[in-house]
Amino acid sequence: MKISKLTIYQHDLPVKGGSYRMANALVTSLDTTLVKLESDCGLVGWGETCPVGSTYAPSHAAGARAALVEMAPGIIGADATQPLLLHRRMDGLLNGHNYAKAAIDIAAYDLLGKKTGLSVATLLGGAVTDRVPSYYASAVGEPDEIARIAADKLAQGFPRMQIKISGRPVEIDIAVVRKVWETVGTKMRLAVDGNRGLTTRDALRLSRECADIPFILEQPCDSLDEIAAIRQQLHHPIYIDESAIDLATVIRAAAGGLVDGFGMKVTRIGGLMPMASFRDICEARNLHHTSDDSWGGDIIAAACVHLGATVKPKLFEGAWLAQPYIEGHYDSKNGIVIKDGHIKLPSGPGLGVVPDEGLFTNQVASF
Ligand SMILES: [Mg+2]
Repeated sequence: MKISKLTIYQHDLPVKGGSYRMANALVTSLDTTLVKLESDCGLVGWGETCPVGSTYAPSHAAGARAALVEMAPGIIGADATQPLLLHRRMDGLLNGHNYAKAAIDIAAYDLLGKKTGLSVATLLGGAVTDRVPSYYASAVGEPDEIARIAADKLAQGFPRMQIKISGRPVEIDIAVVRKVWETVGTKMRLAVDGNRGLTTRDALRLSRECADIPFILEQPCDSLDEIAAIRQQLHHPIYIDESAIDLATVIRAAAGGLVDGFGMKVTRIGGLMPMASFRDICEARNLHHTSDDSWGGDIIAAACVHLGATVKPKLFEGAWLAQPYIEGHYDSKNGIVIKDGHIKLPSGPGLGVVPDEGLFTNQVASF
């Protein structure tokens, strides 16, 4: 099954309530990029990539589209049923830019699923559940506000809460963590995510002053080197997220004992195929991880949920989706939704989500 046509669309995703605050970004609207692959047998597959602004990671929306335009002519004629060879082909067309390659990878898996009648989760090894756990990530906020959100999400059935911190005096972050802990205790698993924003000094202080609270500390500092420098002095398990840029880094972090787990994003690592390799590395070392993306709509959400459904349950920290924060769905019938803190694995071949193409009015390029 050869890829006969590749179309790139730009699409805006408005954020509910106006904005979302993180350590290094204020998100008001998401600029997402969709890839439509058409095959010589008439089937269509969809992929998506959506960097959250231009300061969260070394990726941005216009960069994704430029990278896709760079690769697209060389993708025409590729066999969509051979994801490994497709990745090698993409690597032969462009160095790096995993987040752009991910959109083609996801679309190819969607095509392969439709061709074979299998779900993407089945293609990735097999689903262990049809009800995938999610977790709720608060924005950076004040103690009472975040504690109220935590109580609300606990009541809704979320098994895990991620508290966003940093970008302000660490005393406020410590107060937020303590207030959430007093409110929900061990009824939810807690993660505290610095999104690279703490200095090593402040990460040490946070961990020391909250030593009695059982949370995992996610990407407190900017780099893996900074985290490694304080690793032995911390009182909390460490996960990395933004620093886990590729499989080589994952292997280094896992083999070197630098981390206890990962927040992982399907597009950052290059799509579903490298994400499945990442999952297997974690399983081999009994490391916990998530299956997330930065932001994005139903296509990315479906990809995260299919992969999440294949993760060994005791190691899985959940699939984070942007769905609670953004307006509308691409697929009004099968759009991905979080209900009672969990996500129903889409059925049907491929991703199980078929976007309404009429929504995508801004075609960037077609090959
Ligand atoms: Mg994170």
